[in-house]
Amino acid sequence: LFDFQGKHVTVAGLGVSGVPAAKVLHARGAIVTVVNDGDDARAREQATELEALGITVRLGDGASLPEGTELIVTAPGWKPDKPLFLAAEQAGVPVWGDVELAWRLRGPDAAPWLAVTGTNGKTTTVRMLAAILTAAGLRTAAVGNIGVSLLDAVLGEETYDVLAVELSSYQLHWAPSLRAHSAAVLNLAPDHLDWHGSMEGYARDKGRIYEGNRVACVYNVEDKATEDLVREADVEEGCRAVGFTLGTPAPSQLGVVDGILVDRAFVENRQKNAQELAEVADVDPPAPHNIANALAAAALARAFGVPATAVRDGLRAFRPDAHRIQHVADLDGVAYVDDSKATNTHAAEASLAAYEPIVWIAGGLAKGATFDELVARSAKRLRAVVLIGADRELIRDALARHAPEVPVVDLDRTDTGAMLQAVTEAKRLAQPGDTVLLAPACASMDMFTNYNQRGDAFAAAVRELGA
Ligand code: ADP
Repeated sequence: LFDFQGKHVTVAGLGVSGVPAAKVLHARGAIVTVVNDGDDARAREQATELEALGITVRLGDGASLPEGTELIVTAPGWKPDKPLFLAAEQAGVPVWGDVELAWRLRGPDAAPWLAVTGTNGKTTTVRMLAAILTAAGLRTAAVGNIGVSLLDAVLGEETYDVLAVELSSYQLHWAPSLRAHSAAVLNLAPDHLDWHGSMEGYARDKGRIYEGNRVACVYNVEDKATEDLVREADVEEGCRAVGFTLGTPAPSQLGVVDGILVDRAFVENRQKNAQELAEVADVDPPAPHNIANALAAAALARAFGVPATAVRDGLRAFRPDAHRIQHVADLDGVAYVDDSKATNTHAAEASLAAYEPIVWIAGGLAKGATFDELVARSAKRLRAVVLIGADRELIRDALARHAPEVPVVDLDRTDTGAMLQAVTEAKRLAQPGDTVLLAPACASMDMFTNYNQRGDAFAAAVRELGA
């Protein structure tokens, strides 16, 4: 165990990771100073709570490095080019994120981690993995970026056999010594480039998840960038590269043959060269990108020694979280599907690929994205498009370039009530057999608090029209 006794530790950022980190470090004997950019009512409340324990808190001052700091523990979202970190680098002070802290504090008999990252599909894959591990009778939990603190999982009362861990690129950036049992990078598409500085920086941070893997590095055969990251990683001897593919798998891969998910990497019976795991129809929803998520989850579970029957039972028990390609209702032969979580173009492309013909509801905050590729690849599936939100003209222009024949209704609205009008327009444009798909390809904050509220507004509108 790392000895914090008498160490001067600076915690960067209050909030969901900072407050518990400060408390744990203080309890282990560290002399803790918390620095926080903001100075609002919430921050003051948290500061008062920490100060009562004897922790120093500096509000409205997240830039300067406190005298004598020997270690910084940062909230994962803090950008690496902040003056605080530049000062730390000059002073030779190490910086850990919340994941690194949890990793260092885990006990000697701690459960191994099966880790998942990628641009899209992380939460879904981690939930599938946890369902499979549970079906195998293992004590497990889905933790990390999914919204359940790793620190709690590592230090709490509960005992686990194995953890299913979702890691963001930010968390990986700040987790230099993490060593997973096995890990998967699901896919790599441009996202958060403002934070990581470049696509190379983003990929490098994602690739950290493979460092020191013991049993398997799971990659996406259809996304060569993930395979490149495996090749560059420094892993334990005997650790294998295991691919997943929507096509027929090669010997070290998992894939799909005649509607069956099969494993050719971890085959128990030497007489056979493939192990059948589950049917495509066992996966909810059985859309291509989601089959890929299921294969990645299966690969990690199989690397941990889980039998094929548990993969099938776990996938059957799995239900997607809300707002992720969620079927809301059928009205007059038209299906209404909420994929509000499709907050970037890569995610939207996956759900657009799962339906045809589609009346597509899109728009919101583009976060610097371009829409030409998405629109060009999806054009032939589109019956019509309804646009909402701040950056809708970017999508409208891409549609004019690549799908000039597709009717577009541009609502020119950014108020919350626009969703009802959008769904009303979509209903008018749809024909029996079509799918009305909310897959905005954009963030929601121009109109809504978050993607949950956006999806709820869509579902409420559908219900109102169906009543
Ligand atoms: P994350 O946790 O990485 O944000 P989620 O599992 O919450 O991912 O899924 C977010 C959205 O990304 C889904 O609603 C869907 O539109 C899309 N998606 C899910 N899995 C994939 C995948 N494997 N490839 C591309 N897009 C995906």
